[in-house]
Amino acid sequence: SREDVHYFGAGPAPLPTPVLEEASKVLLNYNDSGVGITEISHRSPEANAILANAQSALRKLLSIPESDGPDGYEILFLQGGGSGEFSATVYHMVSIWVAKQWKHLREYKYLGVEEDVAIAGLRDLIEEKMRLDYLVTGSWTLKASQEAARLIGAEKVNIVADARKHQDGKFGVIPKEDTWTQTKDEADCAMTYYCDNETVDGVEFQGPPPGHNLVADMSSNFLSRPIDVKRHAAIFGGAQKNIGTTGITIAIISKKILPPHAEMADPKLMRKLGLPVGPVVLDWPTIAKNNSLYNTLPIFDVWIAGKVMERLLSLHSSSSSAIEGQEAESNKKATMIYGALEAHPDVYSVVPDKSVRSRMNICVRVKGGDAEAEKAFLKGAESRGLMGLKGHRSVGGIRVSNYNAVPVAAAEKLTKYMEEFAKEQV
Ligand code: PMP
Repeated sequence: SREDVHYFGAGPAPLPTPVLEEASKVLLNYNDSGVGITEISHRSPEANAILANAQSALRKLLSIPESDGPDGYEILFLQGGGSGEFSATVYHMVSIWVAKQWKHLREYKYLGVEEDVAIAGLRDLIEEKMRLDYLVTGSWTLKASQEAARLIGAEKVNIVADARKHQDGKFGVIPKEDTWTQTKDEADCAMTYYCDNETVDGVEFQGPPPGHNLVADMSSNFLSRPIDVKRHAAIFGGAQKNIGTTGITIAIISKKILPPHAEMADPKLMRKLGLPVGPVVLDWPTIAKNNSLYNTLPIFDVWIAGKVMERLLSLHSSSSSAIEGQEAESNKKATMIYGALEAHPDVYSVVPDKSVRSRMNICVRVKGGDAEAEKAFLKGAESRGLMGLKGHRSVGGIRVSNYNAVPVAAAEKLTKYMEEFAKEQV
């Protein structure tokens, strides 16, 4: 049963049991209406309240600036997962860059010139100048950068750093800043993209890196520590690890990059330039204008996310202590697990470098990656109800995902098992 098991899956991941218990009830009967939550309209007053509640909890937890001016941030709920946002970021940031340059060219360099001539000038400028900067520190930034190359051409994707080049072709470090090749001129840099926590490789940033128009993928460490939101143009993450169920993606978007504070390029112009125009369901301005209800939003997933966030707030006396409390708990569990691993270097080797170790996804090899030893480790773990510890299929090994809903008791039980297993090996 659920009580006998601790689950360390990388996503989908555990959710707080009280939230799931309540969920099982509202599936049948929401608010005593006799209608289940997945059956109500996403445009009903009930659904609106669920959405407003989730937005408000997230705003409180992460101190997201609220203002109609350019310093405010919009909270969006979307579909398409983290992967959908790999594309959405490119469509959006390129469109903004193009609109800005086009305006500038029409007002100065090509004032009164035929449109075709001006467009040819803009096309040259794009080829020569426009760059999207990617910090490739693991499998997910690699994928995001590949998607950018697929959409706009590899020559416009500037790989600021490829961590594999610094360590035997494998991920596990964040290269030093003095080796990065960032696009120097702010005007040329449409976006600087990074992944705060690389889920497959267990590599986490300490804080936001430098860069213009910073965009962060926080899919696997959302709500595990405070975020310096103001440093970012956009932050996104799938809900299925620290926040809720698979089905919604959360995006926090600076109003500086949304209308009316920013202009988007006309789709006709984008087509003439040979640049992609994204699907409307990934279009941040459209989703923002419609308060995340452009099309049918899975309200049940929003409800779950809202409940998880409300619960986090209710466990602490203030919203800042809620996120700091969660950070302290994540650190405590991660320190405990890394401690057990470090105590037995003859049996366990942590994959990433110590300076970049993730608190959320702890990647480790048993006996240098010996297949039999790793199988034995997993078998012993499962017999104790410690589940979901197998590493990502692309890298193998063991991965402990230490998300918010993994209780301290689970980390304790796991470290005890790690000790026992190590002792059996000698
Ligand atoms: N980014 C990160 C950091 C992830 O861990 C994942 C999924 N594990 C994704 C993006 C892709 O998310 P999705 O499967 O929701 O498209």
